[in-house]
Formats: sequence, structure tokens, C-alpha cells
Amino acid sequence: MTARLLCLLAAVAIAAAPAAPAPLKALIVDGQNNHSWKTTTPPLKKMIEATGLFTVEVATTPPKGGDMSVFRPDFKAYRVVVLNYNGDDWPEVTRDAFVDYVRRGGGVVVYHAADNAFAGWKEFNEITALGGWENRNELAGPMVRWRDGKMVLENKPGRAGHHGKQQPFQVVARNPQHPILRGLPETWMHVADELYDSMRGPAKNITLLATAWSDPANAGTGEQEPMLFTVAWGKGRIFHTMLGHGPEAISCAGFQATFTRGAEWAATGKVTQKPPPDFPGPKETRIRQP
Ligand code: ZN
Repeated sequence: MTARLLCLLAAVAIAAAPAAPAPLKALIVDGQNNHSWKTTTPPLKKMIEATGLFTVEVATTPPKGGDMSVFRPDFKAYRVVVLNYNGDDWPEVTRDAFVDYVRRGGGVVVYHAADNAFAGWKEFNEITALGGWENRNELAGPMVRWRDGKMVLENKPGRAGHHGKQQPFQVVARNPQHPILRGLPETWMHVADELYDSMRGPAKNITLLATAWSDPANAGTGEQEPMLFTVAWGKGRIFHTMLGHGPEAISCAGFQATFTRGAEWAATGKVTQKPPPDFPGPKETRIRQP
């Protein structure tokens, strides 16, 4: 074969190679939180980027008490917005833009204490479906339980949002064929973390993906509490993870895989990421530095 022919074949091969798909755009929102957003946003960003599917930008609000009127991210430029924010109200124009983004089909990932935010914002609470603290009580809506093989809403009066001491706990898939969980072990040991219980909200259009047992010996409820779920709101897809109090909790390989798969699902409705070989099983925690 002549050099010239080889050259021609190479050129044809390059021309025939499928173009790399344009990366999906993700936006992490942070800037205020009763949690350490400064030490969780960088690893969250890294783990989303490591999928090779996304480019990730960060929108940081002014600090608490600052002039929030300048906070106007262009939500509609992104396929998924990851909420790592629990702080001052956004200006009305920004709240409206966020609601409009979700209504038109934008993806959202609600990460841990982001579901504490904005107790008085009706649409936000519908989008997150469950929230806690910030003076929420039974008026915020029911609690979500898993009993006798199905999801149950519980309306009894009481507080919204609580957790015991941080300790490792098992997470159990309740919808293992959902794209976010398909192919993963159905029970896995999560690293020491807060196990949120008694969360409340409108709780509409939830698909419950995974629960964890809240141990009364650790001030828990004795119920299977929702840990991972999706919400349908407008045309938008929402993935909500209650997990991930801080940098140690998000070093769990199980947290990372469900978080990045949830982000892809929220952005596209599909999951193309392969189940990772280090996903934890039912007994041992598995740490991965993002
Ligand atoms: Zn926390």
C-alpha cells in the first residue's frame, strides 16, 4: 500500500468518525448555606465533569445580607442546575426565571440542605417536593414513608426535618430499574452522614428511588426515610438526594455514582454512565476522592 493511499484512508477515517457530542452544560448554585458549600462545590463540580458528559459552571450568590438583586444566572442556558444553596431569598426576577426554566423542561439536582431553603416559596417546595427546618411543620405537607413495599404519605402533625448523629447506614433501592439505579447494587453502605428524617413538603409526583432506615437508637423515627427520589414538575425533571452533609459524606463512591447519574438523568432523561466497579455493597463503605 502506498503512503499516499494510507494517507487518504486516514483522512476518510477521520471524516467518518462521529463528532463528539456537545457537552451538556451544568450550573452549580452556591454562595450561602448552613453547610460548607466552599468545600463541597469543588468536588461536586469535579465529579460531574469526570463523567465526560458535562461542562460545569458555578453561580455564587452574594454573601448573607448582601445585595441579592445582582444574582441573575441565565438558568435557561443550562441542562441541569445543581442546588447547593440554603440562604437569603433570590430576587423575584431570579425566582421567576428558575420556575420558568423548570416548567419548560430544565433539569434540577437538589443536594442535601438545598431542600431546607425557601420555606415560603410555593413553586420551589413543589419542585423539591420535600424540605425541612426553617419552621416547617405539618402545614408544609406530609412525610414520605416506605411501608409494606410501597410509598406512603403520612400527615400526622409535627416538625419537618431532623437527623441523628452522623454514622454509616445502608441505603436500599426501592425502584432498582429506574435509569439512575439500574445495574447498581440494590443495597449499599453509605459513609457516615446525616440521615434526614421527617422531611415534609407537597410530596407530589415523586418517584421514590431509595430509602434508609432511621434508627431510633440514633434518635431516628424507626421508618424507612426517603434518601433518593425524582420529581416531575412542569416539563422538568428533578433528582433529589438527601445525602452528602460534607466533604467526607460525598467521598462515598455510592453518593458520587448516584449523584452524577441523577444529574445526567435530570439533564437528559437517560443515563449512559456505566455502574462503577467501586460501588459499595451492603456491608463495606467505599471511599473515592473525587
Ligand atoms: Zn447536613
